[in-house]
Amino acid sequence: MNGPLPVAVIGGGPVGLAAAAELAERGLPFVLLERGPAVADAVRQWSHVRLFSPWRWNVAAAAERLLATAGWTAPDPDAIPTGGDIVTRYLEPLAALPALAPHIRTGTTVTAISRAGRDKLTDAGREAAPFRLRLGTADGRSETLLARAVIDASGTWGSPNPMGLDGLPVDGEDAARAAGRLTAGIPDVLADPGYADARTLVVGGGHSAMNVVLDLLRLRERAPGTRITWALRHDRPQKVQGGGLNDKLPARGDLGRRALQAIEDGRVTMLAPFSTDRITPAGDGLAVEGTQGPESVRLDVDRIVVATGFRPDLSMLREVRVALDPAVEAPPALAPLIDPNLHSCGTVRPHGARELCHPEPGFYVVGMKSYGRAPTFLMATGYEQVRSVVAALDGDHAAADDVRLVLPETGVCSAPAVAAAGDDGCCGGPAPVEADACCRADAEAKAAGEEGCGCGTTREPVPAVADACCGASA
Ligand SMILES: Cc1cc2nc3c(=O)[nH]c(=O)nc-3n(C[C@H](O)[C@H](O)[C@H](O)COP(=O)(O)OP(=O)(O)OC[C@H]3O[C@@H](n4cnc5c(N)ncnc54)[C@H](O)[C@@H]3O)c2cc1C
Repeated sequence: MNGPLPVAVIGGGPVGLAAAAELAERGLPFVLLERGPAVADAVRQWSHVRLFSPWRWNVAAAAERLLATAGWTAPDPDAIPTGGDIVTRYLEPLAALPALAPHIRTGTTVTAISRAGRDKLTDAGREAAPFRLRLGTADGRSETLLARAVIDASGTWGSPNPMGLDGLPVDGEDAARAAGRLTAGIPDVLADPGYADARTLVVGGGHSAMNVVLDLLRLRERAPGTRITWALRHDRPQKVQGGGLNDKLPARGDLGRRALQAIEDGRVTMLAPFSTDRITPAGDGLAVEGTQGPESVRLDVDRIVVATGFRPDLSMLREVRVALDPAVEAPPALAPLIDPNLHSCGTVRPHGARELCHPEPGFYVVGMKSYGRAPTFLMATGYEQVRSVVAALDGDHAAADDVRLVLPETGVCSAPAVAAAGDDGCCGGPAPVEADACCRADAEAKAAGEEGCGCGTTREPVPAVADACCGASA
């Protein structure tokens, strides 16, 4: 059954396209399905945002090798691109290569995945049955595609977290969104006239929220009536600084430093810790009712930006057997290494097909989506993931297991005890690949018979699923 059927790659973002490059290099038949009208539809929606990682971290090795054969000139490895640069200078040329272009279908949404003739409950003949993908096309048709394996690289951009502290939309949130007054993610506030001289509430404490707040401050230089309220759901505004000077990606550290400076200078009105109860229409704008600590607060705004992170859309996976950590919604072997409750260095132990496989042989979630609700994903992680996964699908288990990944640390640790970890970053860098640990300091502490480095790892990494699920589809 394996011979003529392609590997289906879902999503034409940086990681899906890197998977396509790996498949092309190995000569494995594949089809890449992208729901947008062109590849990298999600990145295009944040094309105005400057990344924090320079080019050297943003280009996959297999993609670079293929591009080089077509005379591509690599960008300056130390320059920091915008999302738009990533699309025009890297992903579009990659997708246009003859090795990839004939196998890419845009305007095609995967709506469901199953095993041909077998629902989720059916064991008999399951592993031999091809995957069956339901596709929706841009012109409203539905189709079926059979595949020997599935690599889900569909990202999380389409599923932003809502505003409520409990993970649910607050009363009135959906209506405000429908009225065009509430936007999730990172809107281009400098280009959208609706933010000029308007009152905007930004909710969230991560890099997305910082980007929006800093852009609104720039907007205020030319539209002085612009008013900015920034609501953090936690009570430590200093936390926005992140690793600051300790961040191994200087642009990421700089973002945090500039955001903290804006807070300290009083250039934004802070609400922290803030929890929204309801949003109601008020005149031409919105009334936001909530609590700041013990106090009830009401504020009138024109626009709300909800930048509270993203979560994976699991709906298309209803008929495949997936194993996900109940909190992080990442594979159980990966979740403890990236759970922000436990570990926030931004490093992660090298991982690949073994850690990413599911009880459904031949099915993998990679890229941003593989991190579930954890916020620290970097493209470089996804590139190594797909190198390993494609090697496994090619039956090259030595290459699949030879995972190598050194990531720039955020310079932040979730617990104070890691200060003793040494000079090599806040946790001493990623753990050795064979170690059951979240970072080098954790590995060393465990080797010395201690519980761990103290960076908060209370949940042990679950051993990767044995060969049965990683190797069977090769
Ligand atoms: C604003 C922002 C800044 C970031 N900055 C950095 C940075 O500096 N450095 C870094 O390393 N990482 C950064 N990241 C994190 C991460 O690397 C990027 O989000 C990256 O784009 C993730 O790549 P991906 O291929 O996994 O997912 P995506 O880029 O989200 O691509 C997924 C693709 O799948 C498509 N899709 C979704 N659902 C379906 C479906 N059902 N059927 C078919 N297609 C589907 C989407 O249209 C999309 O094109 C940033 C993220 C954001 C949001």
